Amino acid sequence: MNQFDVSTFRQHFPLLSNRVNNLPLVYFDNGATTQKPNIVIDTESEVYQQYNANVHRASHALSAKATLAFEQARAKVQRFIQAEYLEEIIWTSGTTGGINLIAQSWGQKNLKTGDEILLSHAEHHANIVPWQMIAEKTGAIIKVLPLDASGLIDENGLAGYFNEKTKVVSFSHISNVIGKVNPVKKIITLAKKYKAITVIDGAQACAHLPLNMQTLDCDFYVFSAHKMFGPTGVGVLYGRRDLLTAMPPYQGGGEMIKKVSFLGTSFNQLPFKFEAGTPNYAGVIAFSASIEFINSFSLAELAKYENLLTTYCYEKLKNIKAVKFVVEEKPDIGVLSFTVSDSHNYDIASGLDAYGIAIRSGHHCAMPLMDYLQLSGCIRVSLAAYNTYAEVDFFIDKLTLLIDGNV
Ligand code: PLP
Repeated sequence: MNQFDVSTFRQHFPLLSNRVNNLPLVYFDNGATTQKPNIVIDTESEVYQQYNANVHRASHALSAKATLAFEQARAKVQRFIQAEYLEEIIWTSGTTGGINLIAQSWGQKNLKTGDEILLSHAEHHANIVPWQMIAEKTGAIIKVLPLDASGLIDENGLAGYFNEKTKVVSFSHISNVIGKVNPVKKIITLAKKYKAITVIDGAQACAHLPLNMQTLDCDFYVFSAHKMFGPTGVGVLYGRRDLLTAMPPYQGGGEMIKKVSFLGTSFNQLPFKFEAGTPNYAGVIAFSASIEFINSFSLAELAKYENLLTTYCYEKLKNIKAVKFVVEEKPDIGVLSFTVSDSHNYDIASGLDAYGIAIRSGHHCAMPLMDYLQLSGCIRVSLAAYNTYAEVDFFIDKLTLLIDGNV
């Protein structure tokens, strides 16, 4: 595609032509989940209409077709994130599922009393609670990395948080509230020096940044399909093959076994060892369609347009006196978080909803970050490549009206 054309791109998303409160929907809650293009909806429907059968189970034609598409999707993800080996791609239910798997499987085997897990103040609950649960079981301790004025994990003094007890460093590539790219490379390099594993929560990065697991050189990377125009209930856990091989299974059941006997059970090889039970194969196959869809436009083109739109929205918001950004600097992706002086976040969100504008207010599953920033909550506008300048204008207009009390 030569020049990104938002109106053509938008046409792929049927939900965007809906009306809410008798007004055209303005969907600005893409950080929570993205809308789905026809190709994703149709692919999932096609699986159920034409070749619905359990994967890896049967020798009949339907199962063979479903299995082939399911495994081709794995290969597509491998290429999308440039993982070295196919078996490093594990299907999960989402980012949350991936982090729980790592914390329980790797953590149970490797953590002991006094070991240290480093997180940051900006983590989503999905990257806090699983670590708290395994810390409770093993006696490990959680330490929290501070943020700098721009909302990034503070590079100054970072080395002081590492020592020989540091076993895990788990942090978001991009925070779902702050929208800025963390100094991932620097943290990974430090972690390696102390032989700690790195877990990157890529939930917000996967739709916006090109990913290359080999150059990033982290140990684990997790993300969710639904944040990148894919279906819900599907996620990816990338893990370094040697680490995954050494880890015990997380859940037991069908598919993850080699042989089951009451005398003892042996486990399947990677990646199946971590995929107990019937997977969401229809979702996985539809996710493959969403990757193809993104590739057909080019992630770089989408990101370029999003960045221009984000700058536009940021500048407009900056001109509204009552708007106070959570961090002053322009975010790196279309995630703009702010409060409005003398207004409750919820009132602004519901006021905008009356105009068909979907944004999010609250703690954004990041209560510790709200505490850190001394906020009870905030408003988040999160943009995707199907959003338009006209939508931003409409939103700014209505936000201004709400602030001025002219409603
Ligand atoms: N981490 C971050 C940074 C997120 O933004 C989210 C979802 O909003 C998650 C983790 C959890 O993702 P999921 O609910 O898809 O498992």
